[in-house]
Amino acid sequence: MNFLMKMAMISCKQAALLGSKGSFNALNFIERIKLKMHVKICTTCQDYAEDSKLIDEAIEKILQQREKQQLSLTDEQKARILEVLK
Ligand SMILES: [Zn+2]
Repeated sequence: MNFLMKMAMISCKQAALLGSKGSFNALNFIERIKLKMHVKICTTCQDYAEDSKLIDEAIEKILQQREKQQLSLTDEQKARILEVLK
């Protein structure tokens, strides 16, 4: 088995963990190579990576929409909460 094949020989579970770690930009060089090699040859992980990307984009979109809505409580709502907490 050559060097490149050894690099790609991680399980799908390991690839998923590296993918999650990678979304926080926390992969070192070797981990990035292992993940890329695995995803190149594994259609299951290709699908997983694509689905994860869609989910991340949807979450980001929701968070951006919430920031725009400027959610805040009215004075009456604040007073009611304070009353309940007494
Ligand atoms: Zn895989």
